[in-house]
Amino acid sequence: LFVVFEGGEGAGKSTQLATLAERLRGHGREVVVTREPGATGIGEQIRSLVLDTAVEAPSPRAEALLYAADRAHHVATVVRPALVRGAVVISDRYVDSSLAYQGAGRTLPVDEVSWLSSWATGGLKPDLVVLLDVEPQTGLSRVASRSAGVDRLEAESVAFHERVRYAFLDLAASDPKRYLVLDASRPVGETAERVARRVGEFLVD
Ligand code: C5P
Repeated sequence: LFVVFEGGEGAGKSTQLATLAERLRGHGREVVVTREPGATGIGEQIRSLVLDTAVEAPSPRAEALLYAADRAHHVATVVRPALVRGAVVISDRYVDSSLAYQGAGRTLPVDEVSWLSSWATGGLKPDLVVLLDVEPQTGLSRVASRSAGVDRLEAESVAFHERVRYAFLDLAASDPKRYLVLDASRPVGETAERVARRVGEFLVD
């Protein structure tokens, strides 16, 4: 089972991801929690290239290729092997982040970014995408109150983050069976319950 969490900055993905992983482990499942970008050694270096404001900003196509390279290596060395073992894989971001950020955000043609992503992954799709929907203003003010430094994307305009948000919502609307869209301003516990219930539907055996 391959579950992906998507959403804008400050949507609360990490909290929900960790809660779901704990629950599934409590039921004796092997769970691999992972993320994009940066789940592997190569990925960590790519993550600094794309997010560290000390490095020059990559041009949009270069940025899309860097995310695709991170993803190709991540899928080949982490995600696929874990799925083959029968583990539940929970990823913090995946292809939809590229469609939303590099496509809608940077205004690259979304069909090209989509093609690049499916080439990178060999066509691997998640079974479920949990979209934590948050208004950019709310999400960005949540991340601003965190102690960690601001990354390149957090410094983008509200208009950029609005495009990202609506791209995520459009993707979810185009394939409702694969998505669970939740309002990230709801209480954390309530959201966790909904996620657990939906994931549970995949695990009846
Ligand atoms: O989710 P996390 O905070 O780790 O993401 C790191 C940053 O990378 C975020 O600012 C996110 O907007 C950005 N990102 C992106 N394109 C992707 C994946 C992540 O711009 N495909």
